[in-house]
Amino acid sequence: MIPISEALKIIRNRVGKLSTEKVGIAQCCGRVLTEEIRADMDLPPFNRSQMDGFAVKANDTKNAPVKLKIVGESSAGKGFDGKIKTGEAVRIMTGARVPDGANAVQKVEFTTESDGFITILETTKPKQSMVNRAEEIKKGAKIFDKGEIITEQKIAVLASFGYAEVKVAKKPKAAILATGSEIVEITEKPKQDQIRNSNSIMLKVLAEKYADVEVLPIVKDELQNLKSKIQNALEICDVLIISGGVSVGDYDFTKPALWSLGAEIFFEKISLKPGKPTVFAKLDDKLIFGLPGNPVSVAVSFYLFVRTALLKMQNAANCELKQSYAVASAKIKGAKERDCFLPVQIETDKDGKLIIESLRFSSSSNFIAFSSANALAFVPQGENYAPGDVVEIAYLT
Ligand code: AMP
Ligand code: MG
Repeated sequence: MIPISEALKIIRNRVGKLSTEKVGIAQCCGRVLTEEIRADMDLPPFNRSQMDGFAVKANDTKNAPVKLKIVGESSAGKGFDGKIKTGEAVRIMTGARVPDGANAVQKVEFTTESDGFITILETTKPKQSMVNRAEEIKKGAKIFDKGEIITEQKIAVLASFGYAEVKVAKKPKAAILATGSEIVEITEKPKQDQIRNSNSIMLKVLAEKYADVEVLPIVKDELQNLKSKIQNALEICDVLIISGGVSVGDYDFTKPALWSLGAEIFFEKISLKPGKPTVFAKLDDKLIFGLPGNPVSVAVSFYLFVRTALLKMQNAANCELKQSYAVASAKIKGAKERDCFLPVQIETDKDGKLIIESLRFSSSSNFIAFSSANALAFVPQGENYAPGDVVEIAYLT
């Protein structure tokens, strides 16, 4: 049995890197950058007004109300090219260039206009209602680094600096193979001894954030058949995710199939609850994960291991779940011989404290309790937590 940290290290070391492609920015969310993103111009590119109003010399408005001569107009896209002198003002719009000589903008609500003159009703301070050239970013400055994941919030930046396309890592191809003679399709009514296949669709939804995913037909617990289905699957993917059949039962054939195909198994037992019998193997350059069949174990080992591999293949800087801390609201029981990553619900209480609401999580088959989880609570081997204890958590994102 190896520690979780060791399993993650093995994955990081064994994963190959995918090459780069260019993708249009409307399609690039969730992808990992393989180029630095830099500003190709100052932003703003000129001293910019933040208000509709009048550009003035702040000093002229010291003893407001004060009457200034309107000498021109600066609108968005068509700035005023002259230079204003003492006693002068320029009518200005939001987003327009503040003319030379002016160092403040008074908004139109604090002015009255008559006969070519503007009365500024309130004093302005230097820089009021304007943003100076390059104040947001200077030409050439780095904004995003290689390895960052592109999020929706980053799109406007890419667009503003002319990146109609960005260089990102190619998306891994994942295939999903559920095993189990008791498993039937979701559209079927299970007969005696049967249950529906919830793992394949869950894995598809989880993996699709990081990969192009193909779900393969269910495979019965039969060694030769499983072997040939694994072989076929490896032809269409970079990463094969198998669920079920990794334990020590008489009909658990995932590892025997991998052995007889000549795959190299790097680990098959992790000090982790749920998820202990997770298998990680490689055949040629294809990665293979064998996840224990219980739906909660599948989810936890996906989040901890498969997700890490899919992101590492794309050279992502952060390949693991975002960690934080929260306060236990009730007892949390760990395990004597394994570290636990227990599904929990975290919420902020009225004092602003992040609180762990434990789920009535009795076993790794309880996917109904898991359905309200939004984090995993880490309980080190041999530990138990009491109400009020601070606990390490990992967000399920
Ligand atoms: P196994 O890892 O094959 O021993 O399966 C462990 C448990 O998970 C058993 O109760 C299985 O019936 C269940 N299980 C396995 N595969 C699936 C699946 N695709 N969907 C739902 N439950 C499953
Ligand atoms: Mg099984």
